[in-house]
Formats: sequence, C-alpha cells, structure tokens
Amino acid sequence: MDHSQVILLALFLPGILVVLFVVAIALPRALRDENRLASNVCVQCGCALGNSKDACPQCGAAARRR
Ligand SMILES: [Zn+2]
Repeated sequence: MDHSQVILLALFLPGILVVLFVVAIALPRALRDENRLASNVCVQCGCALGNSKDACPQCGAAARRR
C-alpha cells in the first residue's frame, strides 16, 4: 500500500462509517414502524389503535394506516 492509497483510505473510511451509522439507526426504526403499521398499533408509542381512525388514543399522534 503506497502513500496515495493510504490518503484515499483515510478519506473514504469516515464516509463509510457515517453511512453504516445512518443505516444502523434508520433501518431498525423503519422495520419497527413497518411492524407497528402491520399490527394496527401507533407508530409513535406502540399503543393499540383499536377503532380510532385519526389519532392515537394514548399519545395523540396521527394514526398512520396502509
Ligand atoms: Zn401513540
């Protein structure tokens, strides 16, 4: 590995780490939201939405439905 490759790696590695970090944060959240949508519970707090159509009875967040 010569000097230019080391510089390239030093520039590239932080970018990869940032992308991995964002994916590690965003992906579980997206999966959780998807699970909550599928099971008819509030995406914000996980409270069962039941028959309420507009907002969560627990936290008042807008009820998201498919
Ligand atoms: Zn809620």
